[in-house]
Amino acid sequence: MPELPEVEVIKDGLRRKLRNRTIKGVDILFKGSIKNLSPPVFGKRMLGRKFEDVSRRGKFLIFSLDNGSFLIIHLRMTGQLTYCPSNEEADKYLCLKFILDNGYQLRFMDMRRFGVVYLVKKLEEITTLANLGPEPLESNFTALSLEEILKGQKKKVKIVLMDQNLIAGIGNIYATEALYQAKINPERKANQLTEAEVKELHRAIRDILQRSISARGTSTDNYRDAEGKKGNFQYQLQVYQRGGEPCSRCGAKISQIKISGRSTYFCPSCQK
Ligand SMILES: [Zn+2]
Repeated sequence: MPELPEVEVIKDGLRRKLRNRTIKGVDILFKGSIKNLSPPVFGKRMLGRKFEDVSRRGKFLIFSLDNGSFLIIHLRMTGQLTYCPSNEEADKYLCLKFILDNGYQLRFMDMRRFGVVYLVKKLEEITTLANLGPEPLESNFTALSLEEILKGQKKKVKIVLMDQNLIAGIGNIYATEALYQAKINPERKANQLTEAEVKELHRAIRDILQRSISARGTSTDNYRDAEGKKGNFQYQLQVYQRGGEPCSRCGAKISQIKISGRSTYFCPSCQK
């Protein structure tokens, strides 16, 4: 599932390509992707619009259109967004395509079909977007703000890190890796971390996310960037999907457990 770094890489790729491009055609192949409008109304309203900008909030992609409205896409489990020449062969999981004025298309593919597409006049219309917690890479997300968030939570720290209402954009991969880097056991109660541990965790979260963006994201699943290329951060993962392998810090065997139904990996020896 694409998390903050992957969505950020897609956003950067699309931003450069889509600015000032006009939509000449809309082809809806899977109607279920469009969530807040009937597909014909969606198609009619998107036709003729020009892309002004692309931004990211949490795991949401936000496309600003020339009439002040917003196209919003959340890729969820397996969604992919690519910008490609019109004559390129279509993927069998193609759900939606926008035909652009320069011989290219913006295509939304989704194997599992959990991805969601909205067209809204105001961003606040999407409550899951409006309720997102702070952006972990923004300068106002400090060790102190993380401490404030964790202090009020009795749940396991890993669950809290993945709660989009508390912090935006972190999912299973980066929660797992950040806790390893900070040497914190994912089952610890969030409100029982020491001040030093919170500082270490804050540093780890920002470091992991930044490094993943630099490596163009993690392609352990079907994630691809806006040009259809794989990311490279999977080669830098220390514990995620490495159950049974030796810890690179201490050599102990990496454990695999479930927390809230999600596979979680950690070193039982050096994550306290
Ligand atoms: Zn270890």
